[in-house]
Amino acid sequence: MEKVVIIGGGIGGLVTAKTLAKEGIPPLLVEKNKTFGQKACGEMVTEEFFGLNLYQFLEKEEVILRKSEKMVINFADRDYFFDLKNSSLGLKKVVQLDKRAFEEELAEEAKEFGAKIFLGKEVKKLERKKDSILIDGEIEAKLVIGADGFHSVCRKFVGQKIKSYGFAISGYGKSEREYPTFFFDPEISKEGCGWIFPRQGGEANVGFGGLEAEKVKSSLEKFLSKFGLKIENEKGAFLPTQLPFRLSFDNLILVGEAGALTDPFWGAGIASAIFSGYLAGKMAKEAVEKNDFSAKFLRKYEKEVKEKIYLKSFRNLLLQKIFSFLLPHKKTVNLLLKILSRL
Ligand SMILES: Cc1cc2nc3c(=O)[nH]c(=O)nc-3n(C[C@H](O)[C@H](O)[C@H](O)COP(=O)(O)OP(=O)(O)OC[C@H]3O[C@@H](n4cnc5c(N)ncnc54)[C@H](O)[C@@H]3O)c2cc1C
Repeated sequence: MEKVVIIGGGIGGLVTAKTLAKEGIPPLLVEKNKTFGQKACGEMVTEEFFGLNLYQFLEKEEVILRKSEKMVINFADRDYFFDLKNSSLGLKKVVQLDKRAFEEELAEEAKEFGAKIFLGKEVKKLERKKDSILIDGEIEAKLVIGADGFHSVCRKFVGQKIKSYGFAISGYGKSEREYPTFFFDPEISKEGCGWIFPRQGGEANVGFGGLEAEKVKSSLEKFLSKFGLKIENEKGAFLPTQLPFRLSFDNLILVGEAGALTDPFWGAGIASAIFSGYLAGKMAKEAVEKNDFSAKFLRKYEKEVKEKIYLKSFRNLLLQKIFSFLLPHKKTVNLLLKILSRL
């Protein structure tokens, strides 16, 4: 019998594995892909989030490709600059990650502390036993940590369905832009945006995301053609755009995107995956020490995560609705951005 099994080796699962292994309780982590960092992503994250600092989780600075104290919102061809030190966007300094390298690094560190990592193993089925969960009829765990992203088998196992979602595509291209930039243009899309996030040597992470999944590909093409961009390694993925799910159950907790912790306006989920993964690791340690895997005991984890994330999620869900409504009204949006960028 395993004490803790983590399903999913994205950022959330890997931070959980590293945190728990460092606490002296090495878990088993199973990941369906054969290598890390396969998922589409813009790879941008703030340096500070939810009372934590990104550098707590990084051993090697090379994983950070670029840092920026400014961000730009381009609306219908006009650039609005936001100084992130005191910005009305509520973001601090942002960094551009090499996310695959970050995930590989987290996995190496988790392994150094004794975690077992199985790559290329897709979990298909969970079954409830008296005081454990059986995974694919072969691995029995006292505690399962569902860090298996948007299509989470763990979340489905506890009967929770995604209610609202979007789709986003990312790739790599060339750009001379100095600062990370979001592009809103009602002529390209009324419910989505493009981005150019500079990396190193004139390379940038470029992509487009929106609420109407089937329109994202054509919006991306319009966006690329308008700015004369070409991208390679194009990948797409769904992402939740709703309030977080319930996160704690008997013998199971949900981490990151599996728990819909992704920001419903920006689509950002790296920070919340790290934050929830870190707290999940701490919670799992306590559960193992007390030999208590009940939903009642694990509820502490959910409370701590939601205390920091729920209100922000609620506010940005409202922002998503307001912005989609306002976007076609160019004069109003220009005025709003002008005011916000000067605050
Ligand atoms: C195009 C795009 C751009 C984005 N840009 C940004 C950005 O710039 N900044 C930001 O903060 N967020 C961004 N996001 C969101 C961010 O990528 C996610 O919120 C974040 O990666 C969630 O991390 P996670 O570990 O919870 O889930 P994931 O990264 O989805 O990891 C889940 C892991 O579980 C594995 N898995 C799934 N099912 C199983 C199974 N049955 N068995 C075993 N393994 C399984 C998957 O292979 C995957 O490795 C973007 C998303 C997209 C789609």
